Amino acid sequence: MGEEDSKAGGEGMEWYVGVPKIELHAHLNGSVRDSTLLELAKALGEKGVIVFSDVEHVILKNDRCLPECFKLFDLIRILTTDHTTVTRITKEVIEDFAAENVVYLELRTTPKKNEAIGMSKRSYMEAVVEGLRTVDAVDVCFIPSNESTENFSETPHTNDAYDRKHRRKIYVRLLLSIDRRETTASAMETVQLALEMKDLGVIGIDLSGNPVVGEWQTFLPALEFAKEQGLPISLHCGEVPKQKEVQAMLEFQPQRIGHAICFEDEDWRQLKLSKIPVEICLTSNIRTETVSCIDDHHFVDLYKAKHPLILCTDDPGVFSTSLSQEYKLAASTFGLGKDEMFQLARNAVEFIFADDGVKKALKEMFDSASSMQ
Ligand code: 5GP
Repeated sequence: MGEEDSKAGGEGMEWYVGVPKIELHAHLNGSVRDSTLLELAKALGEKGVIVFSDVEHVILKNDRCLPECFKLFDLIRILTTDHTTVTRITKEVIEDFAAENVVYLELRTTPKKNEAIGMSKRSYMEAVVEGLRTVDAVDVCFIPSNESTENFSETPHTNDAYDRKHRRKIYVRLLLSIDRRETTASAMETVQLALEMKDLGVIGIDLSGNPVVGEWQTFLPALEFAKEQGLPISLHCGEVPKQKEVQAMLEFQPQRIGHAICFEDEDWRQLKLSKIPVEICLTSNIRTETVSCIDDHHFVDLYKAKHPLILCTDDPGVFSTSLSQEYKLAASTFGLGKDEMFQLARNAVEFIFADDGVKKALKEMFDSASSMQ
């Protein structure tokens, strides 16, 4: 796709880490560091809640098919679902994304209830927000009403202002996920919570969870309610062959879809007509064997068709990847040059759920980064 001499695939990781990037499809509990999971598992092992030696290899395993991933997610849920831990993992995940120059992150998570420890969906989300507040390695902008005065290209006049400008900064927004195991009422509760937490950076809704579980009709009332209320929606779509559901999802016209793998010819035709942006997760698709070989990945077809695309990680912890690695993988596999990779990163600004003020700030930041390329 690119000229031989400007191929980014040949660049070292440094270039991919240095390029500003936008992450729009990352699940909080899929992004937890292995070291943190092992530490949490050891602590629960010592309390006798789990047997550490039974779970250690599950955490460290690299290749997992899709059903095995969902078994791991159930284990992670046991390890992380208390308020203090939710706050800790949120903080670490933000720091990890910021450390590789992700400048805007939409982090999704499923609000969880655990009556035994007094956790409601709201208190779970408050613990997530607390995690955003406690990040200190980087400035986290997540409260929309505070952002009008913040700008990546602000001119410094004093030492304080200079320090502020040169601190790493990341915009974060939250998407609340509906798990496909949930009932209509529970999905509705999540949408209601999203509306109530708009001022705290919650910006949209995601439908995820084991794709072989649950029926589209169960979630539709909540998704329609979200749409009526103006909440943008991203749907996990076509991870397994379910053509009727893919059709129904495309007809619903979400703002974005994730994956888009098991599509029939008619689905591809409709998707391209619709221009619905696709969140592409290369390593996730290969590791879970939902795409048989990276060379056959639908990225190529969609990219050639100039369909809106965003490179994403899905679950950087579970799949041992990072957004920089996903960019390098795309560049080297599909022969994309530096300019094309930079443009791919910049194009993602158009598909974020945050408002025009944030888009403007991000575009300015990409422009100043491009002059340094
Ligand atoms: P959480 O929502 O608990 O923060 O993040 C983990 C959850 O995200 C998983 O339990 C699962 O419901 C969802 N998830 C993570 N990765 C995937 C994926 O690749 N496909 C689907 N359908 N759901 C996923």
